[in-house]
Amino acid sequence: MQQGVQRKPAADFRQIRMVIAKVTSSCNLRCSYCCADAIPVSQPGATMTMETHKRAATLLIGDTESPELQWIFHGGEPMLLPIPWYEEAIEFCISAGEANPRLKRLAIGMQSNLTRLTPEFLQLVKKYRIQIGTSLDGPPRLSDVHRQAGKRVEETIELLMREGAPPGVIAQINKNTIAHMDEVVDYFDQKGFAVMFNATCPTGRGMNVDNLTGDELYNAKRQLLERADQSGNVRLLGPDLIRQLFYFFTGQRDMTERNCHTYNCGAGVSLIGVDPNGDVWPCGRSSDADLGKLGNVNDPGSLSQCPSILRTFHEKDLWYLRCFGCQAKLICLFGCTAFDKNSIPTREIECHATQLLHQYLWCHPDLVQRLVMRFQAATEKMASEAREGKLTPPFLPMHTGNHPCSGMARAGVPAPGQPAAAMIELSAQVGLNLVQPDGTDLAPIPQTIE
Ligand code: SF4
Ligand code: SF4
Repeated sequence: MQQGVQRKPAADFRQIRMVIAKVTSSCNLRCSYCCADAIPVSQPGATMTMETHKRAATLLIGDTESPELQWIFHGGEPMLLPIPWYEEAIEFCISAGEANPRLKRLAIGMQSNLTRLTPEFLQLVKKYRIQIGTSLDGPPRLSDVHRQAGKRVEETIELLMREGAPPGVIAQINKNTIAHMDEVVDYFDQKGFAVMFNATCPTGRGMNVDNLTGDELYNAKRQLLERADQSGNVRLLGPDLIRQLFYFFTGQRDMTERNCHTYNCGAGVSLIGVDPNGDVWPCGRSSDADLGKLGNVNDPGSLSQCPSILRTFHEKDLWYLRCFGCQAKLICLFGCTAFDKNSIPTREIECHATQLLHQYLWCHPDLVQRLVMRFQAATEKMASEAREGKLTPPFLPMHTGNHPCSGMARAGVPAPGQPAAAMIELSAQVGLNLVQPDGTDLAPIPQTIE
């Protein structure tokens, strides 16, 4: 090959809208259900080099034709890396975004356990409008059964809310929390955290966690719907349940979408995962499940097999024949390809819970209508506050002539106590937000942080 000529990879990253950049496989905690290896940060290969990060950003931000892209720092625990590393990494992402004329908005995210948030990290979060995602499974006493440092995490979530940068909270439903679901729901209702409930799936280092049954999963979702209806707190529902309510209420959904919730999910099409070594995966979870490695950003030629690897990754077996005549297909989120591919029991749990939920919605049309109306009213109120400049858009606009994080653009960062655009973000995630906080047309950020 001629010197200086790079082989063009056969991979097609034009539709990429979310990148999960796993910048470290180290973690200061070792939660018992977590799939991360949690190796020491000093171990060779434990963290992503800046060179690898820049190659990933050049390849993925440079190639996308999407108007919006979310770049999510993930781990392990990403706050183990130093602040200057993030300053350089994010500035490079912004430069790559500015060089791509199609990209209109760049959203920076970070999925953190929040035990390492210092005042300096908080300044970084505000400067780059970083959307923080964290994990807390309920009141600290319950959360600490599988996780650690629940009280500290709770206090830090409250600090971020006061500082105008409210995080999204992922709460795991598992055999521990399901036994205290009333207490868990009470807790999140009273705290007012924006929460998304996920069923714990045994994987990686967390293989010894017991699966829920389909009935248990359904009952948890039913409790959330009923509590949100009673209290009016739609933040309890999270993007997945809201999405299902809207599908049911409107009787419509776009089956050609490629995101986490579709029959053919967005792995490798609208999402990509990159691990600390620069290995490229169809999404973050596929690297947890060690399924479908596509190549490495440091060797673009290694990506030449992407199309055939993705075809195999997305192939459906005969189990899915049942979906064709299924009434519940309207609201079905079709599990997770990475976790379900080799696990019939996991598919059965989600499938059974979805069918029960569909029956429940049929029997409770008034509840469905009330929740949809409440969600729309809350979204419209937030959108109007955003138009009045009271909220910060959860992304960095590109091609404005000003550096997005310059003093001028930063003027929109909320003062302490001023709310940020959490509900806007939530509605954007489910594709229902008709007004962007910067007043431009609809281009919803389609994914949740997985
Ligand atoms: S509920 Fe089950 S059968 Fe129905 S569409 Fe979903 S996965 Fe398929
Ligand atoms: S459904 Fe699973 S495999 Fe597909 S994109 Fe989402 S997390 Fe990845």
